[in-house]
Amino acid sequence: MYLFTRVSNLQQFLLVQQQNGRSVGFVPTMGALHSGHLSLIAQSKAENDLTVCSIFVNPTQFNDPNDLARYPRNPVKDIEMLEGVGCDVVFLPSVHEIYPPDLDTTPQISLGQLDKVLEGEFRPGHFAGVVQVVKRLLDIVQPARLYMGQKDFQQFSIIRFMIRELHLPVQLVMGPTVREADGLAMSSRNVRLSETERSIAPAIYQSLARIKAALDTAPPPLLAEGEKQALTAAGLRPEYLEIVDAETLLPVVTTPDKSRQIIACAAAWLGNVRLIDNMILT
Ligand code: AMP
Repeated sequence: MYLFTRVSNLQQFLLVQQQNGRSVGFVPTMGALHSGHLSLIAQSKAENDLTVCSIFVNPTQFNDPNDLARYPRNPVKDIEMLEGVGCDVVFLPSVHEIYPPDLDTTPQISLGQLDKVLEGEFRPGHFAGVVQVVKRLLDIVQPARLYMGQKDFQQFSIIRFMIRELHLPVQLVMGPTVREADGLAMSSRNVRLSETERSIAPAIYQSLARIKAALDTAPPPLLAEGEKQALTAAGLRPEYLEIVDAETLLPVVTTPDKSRQIIACAAAWLGNVRLIDNMILT
């Protein structure tokens, strides 16, 4: 496995690969890797000649400085894990490499309502940072395919929108959410849960699963409100639990139109850890 920390060295290497007709799959991450990340690497390896994984804790997407300070970092273990699954290239840039002071990396794009709802309501500026870093990384790596997880469904929707809007020559591929045996969606932040919190955390998955099972039996807002209360009763502090249209991310208020994809999305605090999850309902 090759490891690069400098943009110029990575680009030189990738140019030769691409000139030799090798297709590149790209998996951007913030490290503290788990099986969810590794499943994206496996998917990329199956569909491309070369897989590049970046590890970069992007400061511009953290609206909460405490969250940035507490974000788990474990580059040595990450590199071992990537080597273990046969990743070809790992890119570990510094903040300065990604955001050199003389380069304007802010994409000129309006996200409409996509970054105002759900996460956007509670994490102002978060998606502007996500769009900025993904655009910058795509400019550097220029992959044929970009792999992102369903776990961060709104992030996926926004990157899909950006790719269309800016006509970027990359195919976006969604990887399914990888879960622990009890349903908890894998997340780098899970390591910060205490033993008690960890035992409560699967309540989010259970609420989403109950919504899916009951979708035809009650109006979506009522189902969502009931499960939000169930989360509170379980000991979580939900920020939102909404049933939304998967394309517009706007709430579904009447009987779901089965021709459209509908998704339940949730965010809740457990102690000082913020967890998100979602489930596609139709
Ligand atoms: P992160 O390191 O949290 O920024 O995540 C990097 C990529 O891995 C994103 O595309 C995430 O959606 C994806 N990802 C995170 N957790 C999971 C999971 N449990 N299953 C599948 N993909 C995931």
